[in-house]
Amino acid sequence: MELSEILTHLGENRHDYFNAVAPPVIQSSNFMFDNTDDFRKAISNELAHHIYTRGNNPTVKILREKIAALEHTDDALVTGSGAAAVAAAVMANVSAGDHVICVQKPYSWTYKLISRFLARFGVTYTFVDGRDISEIENAICPQTRVLYLESPNSLTFELQDLEACAVLAKRHGIVTIIDNSHASPIYQNPADLGIDLVVHSATKYINGHSDVVAGVICGSSEMIRRIFNSEVMTLGLTISPHDAALMIRGLRTLELRVRQSNETAVKIADFLHGHPAVEEIYFPHHPSFAQYELAKKQMRGCGGLLTFKLQVDTKEKAEMFVRRINRFLMAVSWGGYESLMIPTLVFHDVPGLPDSPVHWSMVRLYIGLEDPDYLIDDLRQALDSIL
Ligand SMILES: *Cc1c(COP(=O)(O)O)cnc(C)c1O
Repeated sequence: MELSEILTHLGENRHDYFNAVAPPVIQSSNFMFDNTDDFRKAISNELAHHIYTRGNNPTVKILREKIAALEHTDDALVTGSGAAAVAAAVMANVSAGDHVICVQKPYSWTYKLISRFLARFGVTYTFVDGRDISEIENAICPQTRVLYLESPNSLTFELQDLEACAVLAKRHGIVTIIDNSHASPIYQNPADLGIDLVVHSATKYINGHSDVVAGVICGSSEMIRRIFNSEVMTLGLTISPHDAALMIRGLRTLELRVRQSNETAVKIADFLHGHPAVEEIYFPHHPSFAQYELAKKQMRGCGGLLTFKLQVDTKEKAEMFVRRINRFLMAVSWGGYESLMIPTLVFHDVPGLPDSPVHWSMVRLYIGLEDPDYLIDDLRQALDSIL
């Protein structure tokens, strides 16, 4: 189906709600029945009927249809955060005694889910360098149930060869899960390459306006039904109808936003690469990137995250660069309209915490929807000031 059709019309049965162009927010916790037969029928299949909003809600249902179509899967679920989507997808596929293989630098709370939370329930794990398929293969044991991927990750953007991972996992009966937040469904559809479950922090590109925290899980009907009946319903991972309506609104411009963010990021990567105060840049679609060929092969575009290493020998100089920046907000998260910056030096010298293994001279940028020259001018004056 055409992207425009999905983002603008799919799932929106406008005759059902007074021909309204924008979908209604069905802000109701529960739904009534006219007779016991209808009630019984609904109970037999809660995923397909409206009983209670922890399970199913008409506004959320519109969003689910769009998300599944965007990721080329049978069905999708929407959760109250990306962390909930990650946790539900992994937990649905493991029991005590099982083993999970995960790429070595996933999102921080994914790392904690696997190394601390699931470990409490007797699930073992191995973190591997996902750039090397033989490392993944060597980590497989008879108890391995899940291969967890994040390609690219969101700081230094290591990739995995998704097709090779899917083939390997299928041979061993292992479920593959990927966090596809970075590339977004606009630039990468892992289900087409054989990956079983695709999760996103929808807080990022999918909602895209820095005003909702949400997640999505996409997969086969069978897998989605299982996750719905177990993790989503028992742990209550629900999104509110109002947030779902905001996300539907965000989706109207998903393609435009992601494309703009990516095109500006390409320009900024080129600018940074040529500046003497920059030692190295990390951007998968830049020819200097170690996995450039793979990035070009499996991602139609790159997205707006990029990281660079300042050419500085003291933390004071790095601090000076940060102080000079005016047009990037210093904040976590990404995927909205506004450009953001995280200097890794904030992960150093934190009272009560060990220093991060990531060097303090790195800066991660998220490129929003501002004019490229507006952003480049700001970076230029800050970089020139530390030469
Ligand atoms: C933000 C993020 C998450 C967590 O999502 P929340 O919506 O914050 O719960 C997971 N993975 C990646 C790559 C992220 O950037």
